[in-house]
Amino acid sequence: MPLITVRPEGLYCEIGDFFIDPWRAVDTALITHAHADHARAGSHLYVATQISEGILKKRLGSQIQFQGVEYGEPLKFGNIWVSFHPAGHVLGSAQIRVEYKDEVWVVSGDYKRCVDPSCAPFEVIPCHTFITEATFGLPIYTWQPGATTVKQIYDWWQSDRDRPSLLFCYAFGKAQRILAELTQFTDQTVYLHGAIHSLTESYRTAGVSMIPTLSTSDQPRSYKFKGDLILAPPSAHRSSWMKRFSQPQTAFASGWMAVRGARRRRGYERGFVLSDHADWPGLVQTVRQTKAQQVYVTHGQSEALARYLTEQYGLEAMPLKTLFEGEGDIE
Ligand SMILES: [Zn+2]
Ligand SMILES: [Zn+2]
Repeated sequence: MPLITVRPEGLYCEIGDFFIDPWRAVDTALITHAHADHARAGSHLYVATQISEGILKKRLGSQIQFQGVEYGEPLKFGNIWVSFHPAGHVLGSAQIRVEYKDEVWVVSGDYKRCVDPSCAPFEVIPCHTFITEATFGLPIYTWQPGATTVKQIYDWWQSDRDRPSLLFCYAFGKAQRILAELTQFTDQTVYLHGAIHSLTESYRTAGVSMIPTLSTSDQPRSYKFKGDLILAPPSAHRSSWMKRFSQPQTAFASGWMAVRGARRRRGYERGFVLSDHADWPGLVQTVRQTKAQQVYVTHGQSEALARYLTEQYGLEAMPLKTLFEGEGDIE
């Protein structure tokens, strides 16, 4: 019997009677991380890593019933053992391991293998069945180190000291990764859109080291942000919030900037390729390292990755239909 199946509410473990990242309200929801497509409102109990509590409550409301766990801490649901392990995706993100008798399944949530100073690095968890994401599951997606991309962002910012530099990026994870990487290059203050400011405070509370930041809304109206770097979520692009900045240079940081034409279509002057998801070599390497013989693939390019794993390595790999959305452009 499979340890995890797909129900209309989400990924379900019948023996333990819990869901993982359900997309409908359920009794017990184990949450890999607090991105919107993995953490939805309305469930009775949320179980997630202790370090993600602040962000999860910011997103779902402080009234939720929350049970925090440490990475690696064994929990028992009915007759099944469950533990959370670092996924290297964002602060507090976890893969969820379930064990029943001699069988082990791991649900990856979202993950990446590149170095990210703002969260714990991915851990390989050996298993029989691995449920992996495949947001960027095509061989065209290969990432350079995050520090290299953030150095390019720093150089872009420094290249125009007369105008504000507006960098758009996902508010939870991407922004804080950039702020953490920037400590290698500068200690100048960076300004943040309100949505990013609040999440960045949670990262500071969790002890993540980042360059100094201030909220744009705390600056006097007369302040011009000349030569400043400002981080904002993509939803603020071309919004009335932008009127505050006179003739800014604009850029977007996302894995999608690797797609030809994506920057121009979205109307940004520059695109920086920076993703919190595994690239193609990272996905393939990870599946191989888990030693899983059975692989279910979710998100994005699930068909392509499943076919490759079957043909190349003889694995029993197949796409799994879920409502996970991949790297969001919206916030
Ligand atoms: Zn995510
Ligand atoms: Zn996802």
